[in-house]
Amino acid sequence: MYKGLQLLIDLQKFDTQILSLRLKIDSIPAHIAADEAVYQQAQKAHDSAGQQRLALEKKKKDKERQVEELTEKIVKMKARAAEIKTNKEYQANLKEIEAFESQIRSVEDELLEIMEALETASKDGAAQDQKFAAAKAEAEAIGKERSEEISAAEEEIQALKAKRKELAASIDHELYEQYMGILKSCRGLAVAEVVKEVCQGCSMNIPPQLFVRIKNGEDIFECPQCRRLLYYIKPENEKQEEAAPKKAEA
Ligand SMILES: [Zn+2]
Repeated sequence: MYKGLQLLIDLQKFDTQILSLRLKIDSIPAHIAADEAVYQQAQKAHDSAGQQRLALEKKKKDKERQVEELTEKIVKMKARAAEIKTNKEYQANLKEIEAFESQIRSVEDELLEIMEALETASKDGAAQDQKFAAAKAEAEAIGKERSEEISAAEEEIQALKAKRKELAASIDHELYEQYMGILKSCRGLAVAEVVKEVCQGCSMNIPPQLFVRIKNGEDIFECPQCRRLLYYIKPENEKQEEAAPKKAEA
């Protein structure tokens, strides 16, 4: 293989790894946003269940107060009954008491319904609390995991960059500049393998004459379409085919 080409192939390996780590890091905020959306949804459900319970508690207190007030009224009416002189007045007083008692029964019915709703809401609430606590713990764990993923990837990039720098220093300056130019214009892939006469960078068929020259490794050649630097590696089966007849002859 042409001198320098192998170095570029190795350099490309570093750059591909660095690029893939960068992409990984860049994709993490979107994952974090998705995790947070799940958590926020759980929080919303939890909050609204809490509010519903508070509203029911308030209703319950209101109804209890109504019962107390009505009861007080009845007590007063009954106390007044002792002072009543006429039968007519007595009957009127009794009627009023009965009316208050009937009101109490209806408020107590409502109160019973509220208490049943509250019981259901409390049970649901307990389940929701548990669900929310689990969602919270999970969100925190995932958040921690994501930030650890970022630091690990950053660290890896730093290590790769150090190795890359060392390698880059051993490459001919002009060749390196050429590589960097193609790397920028060709979305991170400057060196491409030719497999079965096809450039793996752009999928173009390499003209037969050029392919022969690339195979011979006499120089560094660009792909006529994507301008990536091309290299050829003999496939394993061809290597075996070459080795096999020798073995047969021996
Ligand atoms: Zn190409």
